[in-house]
Amino acid sequence: MRKKVIAGNWKMNKVSNEADQFIDDIAGKVPNDDNVEAIVCAPFPFLKSLVEKTNGTSVKIGAQNMHFEESGAFTGEVSPVMLNDLGVTHVVLGHSERREHFAETNETVNKKAHAAFKHQLTPIVCVGETLDQREANETMDHIEQQVREGLAGLPDEQIAQTIVAYEPIWAIGTGKTASSEDANEVCTHIRNVLKDATSEEVAEKVVIQYGGSVKPANVDELLAQSDIDGALVGGASLEADSFLKLVEAGT
Ligand code: PGA
Repeated sequence: MRKKVIAGNWKMNKVSNEADQFIDDIAGKVPNDDNVEAIVCAPFPFLKSLVEKTNGTSVKIGAQNMHFEESGAFTGEVSPVMLNDLGVTHVVLGHSERREHFAETNETVNKKAHAAFKHQLTPIVCVGETLDQREANETMDHIEQQVREGLAGLPDEQIAQTIVAYEPIWAIGTGKTASSEDANEVCTHIRNVLKDATSEEVAEKVVIQYGGSVKPANVDELLAQSDIDGALVGGASLEADSFLKLVEAGT
């Protein structure tokens, strides 16, 4: 049985006291349950404080991006070594907003995925199609390419630990959710691609999240699907109450 993984993606929101307050509001309330994992992916400036505040709780802290190099002349960048040093456990890679605004490609996502594992970080690798691609019936091919190129060269045991987030771009922040059947169809496709790239045993271990306007009102139906093992949540992860409801749905 795969556990359910609920990850909040705060994007570029909150200031430090709001970030700390959120953790104070949720930390004691997130269940210590082997079937569910709760991760808060926060902006870089808050990570140190959030890791300290969640020490000894069941909440894990993730970053939203990183560079693939370990150190050097990359002004403005943050390395996997720095994240690991802080006690961050997860990192979101290849979010569609980074692909769109910051020239992230399957190739850079792949380099970052390798770098993440090298530094004991679990990557949450995002894939998803645009509305144009969906309407042109290109979704499955596009997703397959993103999965294969994003995870290329990773050994099976690392693929088994990777979290893949399926986020149709047209459903992000728009209030439009893919129907749970449509979302599951793509998540099943992702698992089949992983089976083909590795083995059935490995692919069955991979946690596949859905993301795109997930909220307490629709999370149960999404998590009930056969290949949806969690959610990557933007807007509805910003309020403690709503994040806690999402985590509870995973228990
Ligand atoms: P949303 O964002 O939940 O606000 O649609 C999801 C995401 O971008 O990860």
